[in-house]
Amino acid sequence: MSKTTMTFYGGLRTIGGTVIALQYEDSRVIFDFGLTYNPAANIFDGMVKLRNSAMIRDYLKLGLIPEVNGLYSREDLPANSPLLPAEEYSGETAVLISHLHLDHMGAMGFINPSVPVFMTTDSQRLYQALETTGEGVAGNRSYSTCDYGKPFFIGKIKVTPLRLDHDIIGACAFHIETPDGSIIYTGDLRMHGKNPQYVDSFIQEAKKLGFTAVIMEGTSLRNEEELPENLLSPDRSLPADLLTETDIHSKISESSKDTSGIALFNIYHRNIDRINGILKAGRSAGRKVILEAATAEIAKRLGEDQEFFIYESEDIRTAKESGNLPDWLRALLSDYPSLSYKDINENPGGYLLQCSYDRSLELFDLNTERGVYLHSNGVPLGNFDPAYENLSRILSAIDLERVEIGTSGHATPQHLKYIVDELDPAILIPLHSFHPERLQPKNGRQLLPSYGKTYILSDGDVSEG
Ligand SMILES: [Zn+2]
Ligand SMILES: [Zn+2]
Repeated sequence: MSKTTMTFYGGLRTIGGTVIALQYEDSRVIFDFGLTYNPAANIFDGMVKLRNSAMIRDYLKLGLIPEVNGLYSREDLPANSPLLPAEEYSGETAVLISHLHLDHMGAMGFINPSVPVFMTTDSQRLYQALETTGEGVAGNRSYSTCDYGKPFFIGKIKVTPLRLDHDIIGACAFHIETPDGSIIYTGDLRMHGKNPQYVDSFIQEAKKLGFTAVIMEGTSLRNEEELPENLLSPDRSLPADLLTETDIHSKISESSKDTSGIALFNIYHRNIDRINGILKAGRSAGRKVILEAATAEIAKRLGEDQEFFIYESEDIRTAKESGNLPDWLRALLSDYPSLSYKDINENPGGYLLQCSYDRSLELFDLNTERGVYLHSNGVPLGNFDPAYENLSRILSAIDLERVEIGTSGHATPQHLKYIVDELDPAILIPLHSFHPERLQPKNGRQLLPSYGKTYILSDGDVSEG
């Protein structure tokens, strides 16, 4: 068999969990290796205990990770597994990670260490911060880096990462080439982020490299009722009602100025642009910004602005007292000033304080009178997550007003269509979406793949094998 084949293991009609294998002879790349994002159907509700030494078996049983040959260690597979362990797989495989959102990288630690896992150098810098603070993925292995615009080979397959804008540092698309042809895998992207020019260059670079098929995310697509056809026309401009990443800081600043009490914010801290925006907002509102320690560690390594305080939570206070601070935290606390709730309560209106969902109980020590809770894309993201209702209960216990100031990490439907039309692929494979069928190519053919089938890339076409 010398044809290039593609197999889809996940992400076709879900948000994330995209896993695709592309193989040419004995060379294979697998791109993205995350976990599907679906908080309402999460088996691990905090009550079921994870079994650390049996996670791969358990995740396979639950269908949370894909059944792929040659990826998992023999000792991690169930005794009766039909899967070929990594130790017995003779071909050359690498896994490519487009960016560090859990739905794209959450399972990468399960891969046998003999199989290289690549991410961009920017992603690696973020990952090192996450690992330091205990937010790394399960599994003990190392990760390889790749760089935007610099091709590398996995056996006979040539891979070129292309920089994109998404609500996380380090995001890229992959151009993947075999002697039979090329494809583009976009990962996740948007055009209302801080760097839309990355998307423009991506389109130019991709066209220069050439491709038969584009595999593209379609998170923002909806059914025809919610998204009429006219809102799916290609348009690169920014709709007036769409908040961009660069608008966020002025909105947060305005809201803080309108508040006489404390201003709290809940963000997703893998979005460095948002951390930078918060620091900017604090400065323009005349408030000191206080970050949670884990976020401060990211800001310390990757942030533009180093003027912030560390919040001394109840956990940090007790760890300090008992001499149990981890090294990274001790270093952080010696590099930056810290403030406790007692300090903050002396003048709550002087602060912009981070309060993530999992730290919500810290609110009970703070004077939140006439304060505001600025919800800026931190979890829980919406009422599809049972935790959303829970957050509302916590906030109403202290009568704290919640204001939503956020923007999506995913391209709007019109931007998606614009990007597709610019790329103008012969074959468009939309996925990472509840309604992939809504995204149609201008001239080419839409392909909606199925699980369990093999697709062949050859002669400028993708066909069922
Ligand atoms: Zn995603
Ligand atoms: Zn993402």
